[in-house]
This record gives sequence, C-alpha cells and structure tokens, in this order.
Amino acid sequence: MKILTVVGARPQFIKAAVVSHVLRGRHQEVLVHTGQHFDYNMSQQFFDELDIPAPDYNLGVSGGSHGEMTGRMLIEIEKVLTKEQPDWLLLYGDTNSTIAAALAAAKLHIPICHVEAGTRTHSRTNPEEINRICTDHVSALLLASTASGMEEMKLEGLADRADLVGDPMYDAFLEYSGHKQLGDLTLQLLDGSTATVPDRFVYLTCHREENTNRDEDLREIFKAMEQLDYPVIYPVHPRNHDRALRLQEEMKLNNILLAQPVGYLESACLVKNAQLVVTDSGGLQREAFFAKKKCVTLLNFVVWPETMVGNRNVLAKPVAEDILEKIAIPQEIDESYQPFGDGHAALKIVEAMENVQGEK
Ligand code: UDP
Repeated sequence: MKILTVVGARPQFIKAAVVSHVLRGRHQEVLVHTGQHFDYNMSQQFFDELDIPAPDYNLGVSGGSHGEMTGRMLIEIEKVLTKEQPDWLLLYGDTNSTIAAALAAAKLHIPICHVEAGTRTHSRTNPEEINRICTDHVSALLLASTASGMEEMKLEGLADRADLVGDPMYDAFLEYSGHKQLGDLTLQLLDGSTATVPDRFVYLTCHREENTNRDEDLREIFKAMEQLDYPVIYPVHPRNHDRALRLQEEMKLNNILLAQPVGYLESACLVKNAQLVVTDSGGLQREAFFAKKKCVTLLNFVVWPETMVGNRNVLAKPVAEDILEKIAIPQEIDESYQPFGDGHAALKIVEAMENVQGEK
C-alpha cells in the first residue's frame, strides 16, 4: 500500500514517529510536512531525536488566521495528493494541517484514516473541536485512542467506521520517556542564559488559544505559579513568547524559569520527574497520567475524560485562586487503570488500514 501522511505540528510528529516506524517496515509512506510548526525546537528536533524520516514534501505554510492557513494548506496538499494518488491519507489529531488535508482528500475520493478520532470537548469555541468533528465526518477509518472516543462516535452515527486502537502517545511515552535523565538536561532560558533542572519542580506548559489571547489569563497563571513551594519550569510555546517575556518583566517573576521549548525526550523526562504538571496541552495531560503525576488543566472543558478519574487531572480556570485550590486536591491512583491501550497502538493503526484494504 502507498500511504501519504500529513503532519504539521509538534504532537503529530510524536505520533507519526511511532507509526512510521511500523508502517515503513511493511508499506510505502510518503511524508508531507505542512510547515505549521517550523522553528528547530518545534519541528526538526523531533525528526532528529525520534528518528522520523525526512519529509518528502515540505509545504512551508505557517502563520496567518485559521482560514488563511488552512486554505493555503488545502491548495498545496491537493496538488501533492493528485500527484501521489495514495491508497490512504493518514492523519493525526486536530490541527489546521489535519482539517486541510482531510478536506483535500475527501474531494479527491482518497480514503482517510484519522488517528485520535472521536475525541470531543463539546466546546464549539475550541478551534481544535471544529477540526476534529469535520475530519471525523469525512474519514473512512476512524481510529479512537480510548473507549470514550468510541462512545462519542456512536452518538454521531460513525460507529460502523470506527475502531479502538489505543493511544500512539502512550506507545511513544513507553518507548522514549527513559531516553534522558534529569542530569542530561540544560534549559535554554528566554533571557539567553542556561539553567540546570532543580531536583523538585513543577512542569508548566501553556499555549492554547483560550489562554494566550489576553494578558490577564497568563498573568493569573503566573500569579499562582509564583506561590508554589517548588520552582516552575515553563518551556514557552512561540505563541506566548512575547507575552511571557513582557509579564516576566512586569511581574518581577522569581519562581518561574521561562525556557525555550524543549524536545520530546526532554519533555518526557520533565513529566516523569515533576512534582506536578500544570498545562493546557492535550498531550501533557495524558503524559502526566502515564507518569502517574497529578495534572491541573488550564481549560474549562475536558479533553480526555479518562485522565480525570480519581482527581488525577482537574480543570482550573485561569484564575490564581482557582488554580491553587485545584492543585491542593489530592489524587487517587488506581494502578490497574490503563485506558490508553497496551502500548501497541501504532501496530494496530497499520493493521486497521491493511484490514480495510484487504476487504476491498
Ligand atoms: N512537548 C515538547 N516540548 C515542549 C512542550 C511539550 O516536546 O516544550 C511535547 C509534550 O511532551 C507533548 C506534546 O509536546 O507530548 C504536546 O504538544 P502540544 O502541547 O504542542 O500539543 P497538544 O498535545 O496540546 O495538541
């Protein structure tokens, strides 16, 4: 089979890494990078560290409004699909690269396999929710990471195209999270200096549109972080770079290390060693769960309901008082509860496409 994979953003590189390694042993893969994430530490570092084959196409599309970015990607992806004529288009998650590729392929009658299908926040103002719903509804094969994703698809009449394979992020965490030790890490701080990682720390990430459009939200998040007993490591997503630096100056922060984004191996090591994870990232919420760390999610909707069991993950508004209250809630861990699969999602994803192809 010829499978054309489209990726564009950091979380997609991680999932594509584990799937590509299985896929390339059995089939031909054409890899397309839209260019949505392009800085070295948001893109190439992942290809290098996770041994992802170099993209066959780099479309160089980034920036602009949602519509503009998606539209430019759609135009370019359509050209590649028309030329390559793959048996499958393989897509991950919920970014603008995902929806652009899905729309292009659907109109060309190229079957789409969507990984992480059925994930729902039920918030229509969450931009990723629109991408998820539209991609699922034009896809031929819907591969869910969890049972709740399967339930959501049943409610939307998609069950006959859906299958539960587990979460390739769990595969990746099992494979890569032991590759770096804390002592290997040197944080590159935004002010140009470097820092070693303290023995005890809180790991913060924050980049969702919901938390990066206004100073007030980040100011409240920083206010809470300043009051914690441990230093906070915050690798700053480019979307928040200028705002974070401005607030550091304004608030005279002294408990938060504002760092450049780290690679996946470093990030996984930080999750494993943190006292606590505070995040608005879908990936980090699951990784905190995998590492049995308490997570406080800075969003007003649940993305991964499985992580919320036993208060292992709790939602907090971007308000200092609420964040501190939620941090204080103890978590209860059921060691036997592993709703994200058996660590072989990548193989199941490839087999699911093979099975459908075999039925044709
Ligand atoms: N991540 C990383 N470096 C960082 C911050 C996060 O490698 O500086 C990883 C993190 O471990 C997680 C993934 O990036 O696996 C999540 O990406 P992101 O938060 O950008 O997207 P989301 O998961 O929210 O879609």
